[in-house]
Amino acid sequence: MSFSTLKLSPLILNAIDDLGYSKPTAIQKQAIPVILSGKDVIAAAQTGTGKTASYVLPLLLQLNIRYKDTNQKLRGKRIRALILVPTRELAVQVETSISEYGKYLNISSMAMYGGVDIQEQKQRLIWGVDIIVATPGRLLDMIHQRALHFDELDMLVLDEADRMLDMGFIDDINNVIERLPEQRQNLLFSATMSEAVRGLAKRTIDKPVEITIKADQANKPKIQQWLVTVDKTDKSALLSHLIKTFDWQQALIFIETKHGAAKLVSQLEKRGISAENIHSGRAQDIRESILNNFKSGKIKFLVATGIAARGIDIGDLTRVVNYDLPGKVDDYIHRIGRTGRAGAEGEAVSLVSKDNFRELCAIESRLGHIIERKEIAEFPVKKIVPISILNFQPKNARSKSIGFKPSNAKTKSATNSITGESKRPKFKSPWPVK
Ligand code: AMP
Repeated sequence: MSFSTLKLSPLILNAIDDLGYSKPTAIQKQAIPVILSGKDVIAAAQTGTGKTASYVLPLLLQLNIRYKDTNQKLRGKRIRALILVPTRELAVQVETSISEYGKYLNISSMAMYGGVDIQEQKQRLIWGVDIIVATPGRLLDMIHQRALHFDELDMLVLDEADRMLDMGFIDDINNVIERLPEQRQNLLFSATMSEAVRGLAKRTIDKPVEITIKADQANKPKIQQWLVTVDKTDKSALLSHLIKTFDWQQALIFIETKHGAAKLVSQLEKRGISAENIHSGRAQDIRESILNNFKSGKIKFLVATGIAARGIDIGDLTRVVNYDLPGKVDDYIHRIGRTGRAGAEGEAVSLVSKDNFRELCAIESRLGHIIERKEIAEFPVKKIVPISILNFQPKNARSKSIGFKPSNAKTKSATNSITGESKRPKFKSPWPVK
């Protein structure tokens, strides 16, 4: 199937062609026709599947037909489409995609996020902007300052809805939605379809078309996952060793804390490896310049805290490293989804110490398989990390009381087409996984 069968306009097809996309991805094939038909959509789609284009392309086409072809002017402080995203980085990234896909159209767009001067963004709103990609906090500021009105809005997109809920934006989102015109098209994209996401969808969207992608090899990311067990105190030395021994040219390295990020960079630099770190405590312009340098290859190793790393889209990122395993399984899935995008191959490496065992159990249970372990002879481990018990059946009463049910890892199970993870019932850890 080619893009031309999707009934997009020649101007959009030319822009896609310039980007070198030869055929639509699975989510694009399914979502674009439904969105063009004007229906509401909820879609389970992870970053890396081409989900941004799956809503931006039909959105651009609809706005172009409705307003640009008919020369209808937009009033000041008005917008026609609102895309809500969890982070500044994702706002910038989605807006860049809009500019690329819409480069032959006369449609204006703007990324709106906090941490930068509000005046400039207000000034642009005064003339009216067709599409705004916003984080909830800054958007509410604008609303409260009466810098933005929604009476001409046609479309709402909630992107990475699960992450917005994880980050505690539910009240802000509800607050924004209450102010939107009732007549509008709603699109919700989420990497995971948790109860909370379904609840949000139910309140916001009336009878949506639900899109799930059939499992097949073609749309399964090719991510090779492996781990090294290591004593906690050896982690930074091991990472330096891996970088040098395997001659890694690039890695996005996830770490839990801001302080840890800065410390790791100095430890790497002491071993002759130049790296940078990015976290929510750094100024926005610095974060953007570091990201651009990482994308262009000037910075080879970027140490990032989870929140800062959310939304980073580097077309050909070859490797992510979990220096710390995340407390939530969904975060692991999101992180490894940074690599192996749009059919490219990727590698996800985790450094696991004994105190990460419960997180490891939860991750491997969700994946439905044990992650390959590699031994590094130079780093013998004193505190052995046990092999996860995927079929663990707790004997004590406490575990029973939290409703733990053993899962059968060997059962042939349906797999999620996007993440390649098992769709078995979620593993419920007998421990309080953070
Ligand atoms: P997304 O899932 O929207 O974050 O997109 C992931 C990456 O895939 C981005 O770098 C896009 O530029 C790229 N991409 C999106 N659609 C296609 C396509 N049809 N063919 C090739 N690459 C694509």
